Amino acid sequence: MKNVIIRKTEELENWRRNLRGEINFIPTMGNLHDGHKKLISTAKNSNFNINLVSIFINPLQFENKDDLEDYPKTIDNDIKIAFSNGADAIFIPSTIDIYPLNDKNIFYLKASEELSSALCGLRRPGHFDGVCTVVYRLLNLVKPKNLYLGEKDWQQLLILKNLIAVKKLNIDIKSIPTHRDFDGIPLSSRNIHLSKSERKLIRFFSNELFLAKKNFKIEKKINLKKIIKKLQSKKISIEYLEHLHPHTLQKARLEDNISLLAGAIRCGETRLIDHVFLMKRRPIIAIDGPAGSGKSTVTKLIAKKLKLLYLDTGAMYRALSWLMIKENIDYKKEKKLQNILK
Ligand code: AMP
Repeated sequence: MKNVIIRKTEELENWRRNLRGEINFIPTMGNLHDGHKKLISTAKNSNFNINLVSIFINPLQFENKDDLEDYPKTIDNDIKIAFSNGADAIFIPSTIDIYPLNDKNIFYLKASEELSSALCGLRRPGHFDGVCTVVYRLLNLVKPKNLYLGEKDWQQLLILKNLIAVKKLNIDIKSIPTHRDFDGIPLSSRNIHLSKSERKLIRFFSNELFLAKKNFKIEKKINLKKIIKKLQSKKISIEYLEHLHPHTLQKARLEDNISLLAGAIRCGETRLIDHVFLMKRRPIIAIDGPAGSGKSTVTKLIAKKLKLLYLDTGAMYRALSWLMIKENIDYKKEKKLQNILK
């Protein structure tokens, strides 16, 4: 397939109409870095679909005009990066194409109130409404099978998952783990604004999150105040640092096995976010299904891949039944059963 650059929504609709096959869609705001590359190449290597990358700086998700104007624009380089990492087509619309004046088909959406009333949503009013509006508009134009999103923007990922569920769109979200730079800080288009000393602060911030994750494994608890104090001692300006449930974004509870530690800091003019997941124990995954459907095969493979303990409960029941028959034990005799179980 020939690589194409599409600039107008009508061109996109024409291209879409003549297409055979499904689309993997990777929306971006440009200034592509290795994190974006990972999204594009993962999509390319996952299936035989057509890979469409969009580059559009969405004015609706910026509260501040200067921030919008300062957003890095590197379109020629972005085109090279996208194509060389597996894009088949690139959609680069103008603002008027995405938001034509007086077009009744444009719906201005509100993000889930529950999910956007935490973390960045609290500090950036309207931001996630803007994200939902542009993504919904793009999805209606592109009609993809798969939507590739980065976990770096965890709250955005949850909000878009919710949007797709609420709108009952038949689109699978594929989320890609945060890609980090050599020094551990999450790659972001805004990193180019950072001075050497600001970068050092971010490194300290990300390191602290990872340290908290390591300590949590042992101590099973977190001391937010202590971390905040440590960050403040480095004169890091913290916008928030919160410990939440990873899916509802409500306060983490004692019984949560997995929780989210997420923070945002300001370095000069640049605002950066990062997060880690805290786990009390390794996950337990139960797989059920009809006989002969491949439960054991799949479970064994998953356990190997995730380095988890493989527990074949079916085999346990069979082993017990075998022993009871062999020893001639009546299954109604509970005491005997308990002894044999030991
Ligand atoms: P952006 O261009 O910043 O709007 O990002 C476009 C997509 O790339 C979003 O789904 C982001 O979550 C994702 N993304 C940005 N940075 C990273 C990263 N460092 N690792 C993984 N995904 C990322």
